[in-house]
Amino acid sequence: MTRRKSSCFCCFKRDLLKEKSKIKKWSVDRAADLYGIDKWGAGYFAADDSGDVVITPLGESNGVRISLHEIAKGVEERGLDMPVLLRIENILGSQIKRLHDTFSKAIDESEYTGEYKGVFPIKVNQQEQVVEAIAEFGRKYNHGFEAGSKPELIAAISMLDNREACLICNGYKDEEFIDLGLYAAKMGLQCFFVLEMPGELDMILERAQVIGVRPLLGLRMKLSVKAEGHWSESGGETSVFGLNMSQAVDVVDLLKKENKLDCLQLLHYHIGSQIPNIQDIRTGVMESCRIYEELVKEGAAMGHIDLGGGLAVDYDGSKTNYLSSCNYSVEEYCYDIVETISSIMNKSNIPHPTIITESGRATVAYYSVLLFNVLDVTSVTLHPIPKELPATTYDLLDNLLATYTMVSPKSIQECYNDTLYYKSQAQQLFKHGHLSLRQRAIAEDLIKHIFIKISRVAEELEHVSREIKEIDKLIADVYYGNFSLFQSLPDVWAINQLFPIMPIHRLDEAPTREAIIADITCDCDGRIDAFPGYPDAKKTIRLHNLKDDEEYYLGVFLVGAYQETLGDLHNLFGDTNVVSIHVNEDGSYDFVREIEGDSVADVLSYVEYDVKALKKRMKDFAEDSIRKGFITVKERKAILKSFNEGLSGYTYFEKE
Ligand SMILES: *Cc1c(COP(=O)(O)O)cnc(C)c1O
Repeated sequence: MTRRKSSCFCCFKRDLLKEKSKIKKWSVDRAADLYGIDKWGAGYFAADDSGDVVITPLGESNGVRISLHEIAKGVEERGLDMPVLLRIENILGSQIKRLHDTFSKAIDESEYTGEYKGVFPIKVNQQEQVVEAIAEFGRKYNHGFEAGSKPELIAAISMLDNREACLICNGYKDEEFIDLGLYAAKMGLQCFFVLEMPGELDMILERAQVIGVRPLLGLRMKLSVKAEGHWSESGGETSVFGLNMSQAVDVVDLLKKENKLDCLQLLHYHIGSQIPNIQDIRTGVMESCRIYEELVKEGAAMGHIDLGGGLAVDYDGSKTNYLSSCNYSVEEYCYDIVETISSIMNKSNIPHPTIITESGRATVAYYSVLLFNVLDVTSVTLHPIPKELPATTYDLLDNLLATYTMVSPKSIQECYNDTLYYKSQAQQLFKHGHLSLRQRAIAEDLIKHIFIKISRVAEELEHVSREIKEIDKLIADVYYGNFSLFQSLPDVWAINQLFPIMPIHRLDEAPTREAIIADITCDCDGRIDAFPGYPDAKKTIRLHNLKDDEEYYLGVFLVGAYQETLGDLHNLFGDTNVVSIHVNEDGSYDFVREIEGDSVADVLSYVEYDVKALKKRMKDFAEDSIRKGFITVKERKAILKSFNEGLSGYTYFEKE
């Protein structure tokens, strides 16, 4: 066996990447390709020649481009630390406009005689600022709200001052919920009670009588179609929500008996969020149209068909029916719905109903970006291969070195398998005292050298096994980001949701390191190790070396839907700072709102600590420490100062 001159292959690999980037000259366009920004950016985000990510909230053609890096620096100059959730108000308006304009176009072109009315399901982002902005931007389109609980209904009623817009009440309703909705109806709002259970009807009719208002009723139906995706359980016959056919018949009979069939004016269904396949959307529309038709035949007034949510966001930009993507555009979604309803209604001579959709995700996802700085990087610690290997049982180290030298395009799978074998042998030998700590360390370094070499060879091959594709994960650097996954990106943890992530500056420099991202909770689940890629999600992301004199900022995009209120206080990291900007036509922008995140005292009080009592205990203990001679009076003062500053500080990593 020949022993090769040793060198650090970690550096070699980086040099190689640098070499490669020299060959194909690095450019901002290549960065855009690498991170897929043109694919998932939906025209709102782009890579600028300056090397920064820019937002184009007024449309790409408008020419207004604002650097996210400038915004991040501006936020810090204002004294707000990273992480920051940045909201770009205009994008919310643009998305509502996009939905309404597209439905209008489809309605005109299909000679549809009904209209389109959107509602925003408050559960998707309940923040006051979001709901207020939607009411504001949505006014001219008569965009309403969907509420699934009492607090959501209260938020909706107080924000919605538009009597042309719809207010849809889903969810289980008690007397208070019903009274609130009936009072809204009495004030002239178009408030629909969607029946989730037949039992709700009696109480609604009874309370309506008392309050003296005619209720608008809808039925939530269980469809048999089950959409693909994370939320497939929301649909199908086993879904826990909605009425089955015989329950619907019961409701109709009761209304007939009470002579109130004219109140039944809406059919609703929701087969799940983020429906990746347009076929499922079409099937749902067809099935619901048949039910609608039958309800009309029964004598119900009807007039509205509410298709729920489901309009997906292409998080990975692949335009496929993958979970984090969708194989259709907003155009196809709107045209398919309008044309399908129109053709079914035409056949049975039923007037075209008002179409309602409850798009939440698609309305708000693009509007927020999570910005954070990188605190540190740990590289795979790797020593050069020693010139002399110590003798080991079963020649373990010599065998590993031999494997290392053998790695070639033809033998990578074999070398990979051998390495796994030696890896477990090393563990066994160590366990039984046949391998020393130092010998095991050499073994582990050798294993990493082999993996790096395999990965380098695999890059040049077209077909490699899944295991080898995942090898990058074993040798990736870890970038520690100043954020908490559990607080700010709960779906990454809960359902492996993919979000686009990329540096927001330095795109004109070639990134040279393969990395995964860890948050600061130090929880092994607090990491991001799947990134948008096609055909498979990537296990690592390519990032830049940190510079001593400059912060490195990353952005997680499309985080406006579902992330804020699902987040939890894991490790007691609280709400992040939030900043909203409004972009003006002339390209200037204003910081319209700043909301400070939680302080340490805030999060402690959420978990029921009494902050005053904590301070008192600390004072008493410090006093006791003086008495027993551990500290001086002066030291006590410094200790208490630092304790109090700690309590009022941000829960995330602050700069001095
Ligand atoms: C969650 C939910 C929605 C929102 O769905 P999106 O896919 O986010 O648009 C709409 N309607 C109901 C009843 C829901 O439960």
